[in-house]
Amino acid sequence: MNKKEVFEQVTDMEEKIGQLYQQLGDLKNYLAELLEENHRLAVENHHLRNRLESSTEQEEQKETGKSSTEVPVGEGYDNLARLYEEGFHICNVHFGSPRQDEDCLFCLLFLNKSK
Ligand SMILES: [Zn+2]
Repeated sequence: MNKKEVFEQVTDMEEKIGQLYQQLGDLKNYLAELLEENHRLAVENHHLRNRLESSTEQEEQKETGKSSTEVPVGEGYDNLARLYEEGFHICNVHFGSPRQDEDCLFCLLFLNKSK
């Protein structure tokens, strides 16, 4: 192997390492996105579980008719309206998924219906 060949090989390796480094960076960014998404979904899930729990409790209280813990009329509606304001769907089409700052016709219909 002459000096020129060695030099060419080193240059070739350098290029490949550069590409690998680029790929590593891309994967790292992708991983960061996944972690972020995962975190966002975990928070959302937690949030929705709390909502579900509190509305289930309210339903149970309504059914057993305990006057001491009576739920004011319209609180279920307020909860849903708040959930909608916080950016989640409350319609049965997309219930619980984020709205991404757009009004949803189904949600609005649902809100008007249950008012
Ligand atoms: Zn909706």
